[in-house]
Amino acid sequence: MKYYFLTLFPEIFQAYFQSGMIGRGVKAGIIEYEVINIRDFSGNKHHKVDDSPYGGGAGMVMAAKPIADALKSIPDYSQYPVIYLSPGGRTFAQKDGIALAQQPGLIFICGHYEGIDQRVIDRYVTMEISVGDYVLTGGELPALTLADAIARHLPGFLGNCDSLAEESFEADLLEYPQFTKPREFEGMEVPEILLSGHHEAIRKWRIEQAEEKTRKNRPDLYEKYEKNLQKK
Ligand code: SAM
Repeated sequence: MKYYFLTLFPEIFQAYFQSGMIGRGVKAGIIEYEVINIRDFSGNKHHKVDDSPYGGGAGMVMAAKPIADALKSIPDYSQYPVIYLSPGGRTFAQKDGIALAQQPGLIFICGHYEGIDQRVIDRYVTMEISVGDYVLTGGELPALTLADAIARHLPGFLGNCDSLAEESFEADLLEYPQFTKPREFEGMEVPEILLSGHHEAIRKWRIEQAEEKTRKNRPDLYEKYEKNLQKK
């Protein structure tokens, strides 16, 4: 998988791709990435990439040409989906991460200010994606959020494939609670069942816990889960 990030703040990306499991994925050659500074395509000596909105209103808008030129600097850019991170997009979900992991590469456009000129979206963007119903200052964190969530579905990225199968959202359930050593912490004991060695009983307990947590924290998801159970 090759990720391309079009951004005004390239420095944000380096630490992320050198750290943790994502860093390991880069070293293993599972992930490649390239960060493209939109400002390098400003076409003016002040490196200006934004302007005031037509029709008036607050703030500045990122101009179309520097973004389009930055995009066209990617060899064969038209073969990759172009994702514009935007609060106005469809909300990203686990199933999107699974689907996008099938692509050979992805191009992320990170907006700033009031966003980008609509004509870039109309001409070049494959999908507008939001990370939630709130407004951030820029698209870099959303782009990294997607890149991370997608990477977890790349073959060979996670050592143990089972950890994907049981994770939150995989079956419209949140994951069950996890415990590790020591057995007692500040007077709280690890649930007895997890020490029993009875795999079937542990499996059932985990499903019950996952159901309970989903019902409490995400009633919308639980409703979906129940409907799917009824269909089976
Ligand atoms: N004026 C825009 C609006 O009301 O929809 C918000 C622009 S926001 C301040 C600047 C940039 O941050 C956006 O162009 C987008 O790239 C990014 N951004 C902000 N919130 C986001 C979210 N929830 N999901 C994805 N990207 C977001």
